[in-house]
Formats: sequence, C-alpha cells, structure tokens
Amino acid sequence: MIVTIDGPAGSGKSTAARELAARLGFRFLDTGAMYRAVAWECLARGVRPDDDEQVAAIANRLRIELPAGRVLVDGRDVTEALRTPEVTEAASLVAVHPEVRRAMVRLQRAAAAGLDVVAEGRDQGTVAFPDAECKFFLTADAEERARRRQEELREQGSDVPFEQMLAWIRERDERDEQRSVAPLKPAPDATRIDTSHRPIDEVIALLERTVRARMPPG
Ligand code: C5P
Repeated sequence: MIVTIDGPAGSGKSTAARELAARLGFRFLDTGAMYRAVAWECLARGVRPDDDEQVAAIANRLRIELPAGRVLVDGRDVTEALRTPEVTEAASLVAVHPEVRRAMVRLQRAAAAGLDVVAEGRDQGTVAFPDAECKFFLTADAEERARRRQEELREQGSDVPFEQMLAWIRERDERDEQRSVAPLKPAPDATRIDTSHRPIDEVIALLERTVRARMPPG
C-alpha cells in the first residue's frame, strides 16, 4: 500500500509522515532528502544549481540511499549536512530541472517497489504515485510554518529572525508552486488537512485512522 503526504515546508508533513510510517510498520520515504542530496553534491563540487546539464548529470549518477532515518550519498553519511539553510535553498533550485525530477521519481518508485510505504514530498500524490491508495495534502498558514521552521533551526543552534524566515518560506513556496514540472499542488483525490491550529498528535491520529480504514483486511 502506498500513502502519500505532500505539502509546503513547515506544514508538519515530515513529522507526521515519519510517525505514521512507524505506527503502521511502513517504510518512510523522505523525498525532500533526495533533492537535498543532489543539492549538497552540487555545492560540494562547485556546480551552480541553475546549471541544467551538470546538475542533471549529478542527479543521474549519484548513489542516494536512505537507510533507517539516515541519508547516504555515494556511501557517505550526510544526514545532518543536508539540513543547513544553504542546502535547503539549493534543493529547491535543483528541484526545478525536469531531468533531476525524472531521476528522483525513478529512485522513489524503485525504493517503494513491492513495499508498504509512506512517501512524503511535494509531488508524491500527483506524479510519483498517482495510483496511491491514500493521499494527503497538509497545509498551514505561512506565519505558523515560519514559526515552526524558526524553532527547528533554533534547536540546531541557529537563530534566524522571524521576518527573514517568513520571506524564505514564501520564496520557496512560490518556487515550488510556480515551477513548470510537478509544481506543488494537491492531487484531486487527496485529503487536505490544515495543521495551523491542530496539535501534531491529533493530525497523526487522523492520518492513521484514515489509512487504517482503507487498508485491505488482514
Ligand atoms: O521537504 P524538504 O524541505 O526536505 O524539501 C526540500 C526541497 O526539495 C523543497 O523545497 C522542494 O523544492 C524539493 N522537493 C520537491 N519534490 C519533492 C520533495 C522535495 O521538489 N517530492
């Protein structure tokens, strides 16, 4: 069974998807980490994120593995390095290239083949798994999402002013929503959930109930 959870940055989808997968005993597929891995490699090699050809070449040859909550790039553990603001910014820039998206969707489908999966990202219900049995689209006000991201970065030791964070969030939303290939939008058959004023536990419980009701018997 495939469950997709899409939505913008800070909508709570990562936390919800990870916990939902754990409760159901499904594999968790963090597809943002894949774009971040491509971005990280570009930065490490001095390749500009807008360099179509070079970025596509990296996406096509990079070995990205996601064992139990870690991210390996060509065998090297880069999990923490992928969470910096530089990589976050570069990830949304490399994600506009159609060839990069093709390569990532190929990887995502291969990773899910024959398994029960919770796949989290921007285009999981629309492009990667259009036939998924259960699709969700999580949203929240931009201000609330900026607050959550600010808190997350604070826990990692960086202080970003609220206005700056809000500007970053809006800029990233716009890029994700306006790109010509696989823009961020809900699949027509996705259940939409606004998490602005809902505790995350309540959101997870709602997701779990919905999925369990659609699970095949046994
Ligand atoms: O979800 P996360 O913040 O890790 O994603 C980083 C970036 O990767 C997003 O801003 C988006 O541009 C891109 N992305 C995407 N499609 C996905 C997952 C992430 O375009 N399925």
